[in-house]
Amino acid sequence: MSLYRDVGVVLRVGKLGEADRIITLLTRRYGKVRAVAKGVRRTGSRFGARLEPFAHVDTQLHTGRTLDVVTQVQTLDAFGVGIVADYRRYTTACAVLETADRIVAEEREPVLRMYLLVVGVLRALADGRRDASLLLDAFVLRAMAFAGWSPALGECARCGLSGPHAAFSVPLGGTVCGQCRPAGASRPSSATISLMRALLDGDWNEAEISEDTVRREGSGLVAAHLQWHLERQLRSLPLVERSTAHGAGAAAGNPPESEAGEGAPDPVPELIRERAGTLEPSLGERPTDPSGRR
Ligand SMILES: [Zn+2]
Repeated sequence: MSLYRDVGVVLRVGKLGEADRIITLLTRRYGKVRAVAKGVRRTGSRFGARLEPFAHVDTQLHTGRTLDVVTQVQTLDAFGVGIVADYRRYTTACAVLETADRIVAEEREPVLRMYLLVVGVLRALADGRRDASLLLDAFVLRAMAFAGWSPALGECARCGLSGPHAAFSVPLGGTVCGQCRPAGASRPSSATISLMRALLDGDWNEAEISEDTVRREGSGLVAAHLQWHLERQLRSLPLVERSTAHGAGAAAGNPPESEAGEGAPDPVPELIRERAGTLEPSLGERPTDPSGRR
């Protein structure tokens, strides 16, 4: 048994037995960590309230045989206070946590960049100064860059020919040239591709002057791109891991029964699936208008 300390964001909270919870943390040094918080479902628990989703906490844990145990918690930022006050911010923040949880598939692998991204977007959502939808798209684009899934936003995703190119194909990985363009690739406006690039680069002056139709189209493309990669990531797992992948922590060797009652979540966060569904033409499956206009 050894003690360690780390700061992290609470991604997910599940029940364990009568009184305990399993907390999934995205920590600064150790990456994704799942740990037991004992007795937190009893009234009067010392740190139950500090271990809610969106909380940014400083924790002390001790290493257990199967799961680590949380022994101390101090709140660094109670992002939940500002976030739950507004339904749109709340659903956006939920999608952020779920996206981070799905992208970081392995436990105990340092993912400092991802931790910083999540803390940054939760802070911005709690502040309420930026548009929640733009924040989600900026987060997803940067999280995908972290995962190595960045869409091409200029050059051709397939042959590398420098752009700009008018067509966008999710399966091929972004903008595609006239030669590589598959039948039915979508044709987003050039303003949409510019917005996506601004969000990826953190150019908020540019992003915030974008029009609503451009934002909607961008959200659809960003979400469709993420959905495609998350579904592909899940399919690439062996079948036995697939059934437990996002719930039982097969990689960490934890017994599946420890997660009873939590249930494996959908590989794609609901809000992302919804936004991907708004894309016209969806996922580049539909034939483009032969006139070239949309
Ligand atoms: Zn090409």
